[in-house]
Amino acid sequence: MKKLMIFAIALVFGLALFSGIGPLEQKAQAGKTTFVTIGTGGITGVYYPTGGAIARMVNKKRKEYGIRATVESTGGSVFNVNAIMSGDLEFGVVQSDRQYQAIQGIANWKDKGPQKDLRAMFSIHPETVDLIAAVDANINSLADLKGKRVNVGNVGSGYRKNAIDALVANGLDYDKDFHSESLKAAEAPGLIQDGRLDAAFYTVGHPSGYYKEATSGKRKVKFVPITNVGSLLEKYPYYAKAVTQVTQHYPGAANDADVPTFGVKATFVTSAKVPDEVVYAITKQVFDNFDEFKKLHPAYGGLTKENMLEGMSAPIHPGAMKYYKEVGLK
Ligand code: GLU
Repeated sequence: MKKLMIFAIALVFGLALFSGIGPLEQKAQAGKTTFVTIGTGGITGVYYPTGGAIARMVNKKRKEYGIRATVESTGGSVFNVNAIMSGDLEFGVVQSDRQYQAIQGIANWKDKGPQKDLRAMFSIHPETVDLIAAVDANINSLADLKGKRVNVGNVGSGYRKNAIDALVANGLDYDKDFHSESLKAAEAPGLIQDGRLDAAFYTVGHPSGYYKEATSGKRKVKFVPITNVGSLLEKYPYYAKAVTQVTQHYPGAANDADVPTFGVKATFVTSAKVPDEVVYAITKQVFDNFDEFKKLHPAYGGLTKENMLEGMSAPIHPGAMKYYKEVGLK
């Protein structure tokens, strides 16, 4: 009997080895589910549908991989990095500048030091740093923000620092020069429409629900060009010149031309502590079904497999790297 059992166990393992299936598939076949959560941003941003798109693609293969991915709306990039580092989230969408700062231990991570366990998987859509203002507030440049009520952003967001950098480059102090608010992005469009806010910053891909909401109300709203940022582009490797395609995406905005600004990229990150096979499965699901993924949001229009491997500054997770090597992307 004992011999028979040993034989049976050896046969099962042998079969598993022979069929080349990994620990995740073995777990899946044993009926075990690996639960993972993806941190995103406000529900009117692009991170939230991005997390949803990735989760949906991964959950389709639930039988094969045994992964059940869920999505959480969060305060944004800084919150996501910190929650991934503390183990509260497994994955997150994070601005490329925030990924850089976290791995270097600067900006929000100056006191905590480098977030050594942060791992990159891939980049996603481009994001622009934008300022919108109610037309009746007469704001045509950052200098006109003086004395106004302006949302600079919640502390857990990625965009707050982009706003502050743009203000500093224009010689403005958000503490002194205007009434600054630290609201979550999702709240700002409604407050502008209600007349309780004059202007707001946000860094997001396009089109976004946020700007659709902000530009389709009774109070006319426009995008304000963000200029004089040459010093930022020189100083910080993660910032690049950009143009916000206002006319194409937001016909309700009171602009008749696209608006110059600067931008970053959205990236998908995890922790070194998340097992290789889980990261491999998610990477494979997105890249093997790239054409399907691209169709899930209009902000992904310019994506190529190659440019999804640009803009990462944390080490690439070995699970993702295994996939990239297999398909010749690395
Ligand atoms: N870039 C924003 C942030 O990290 C979030 C944008 C979005 O949710 O699409 O604060």
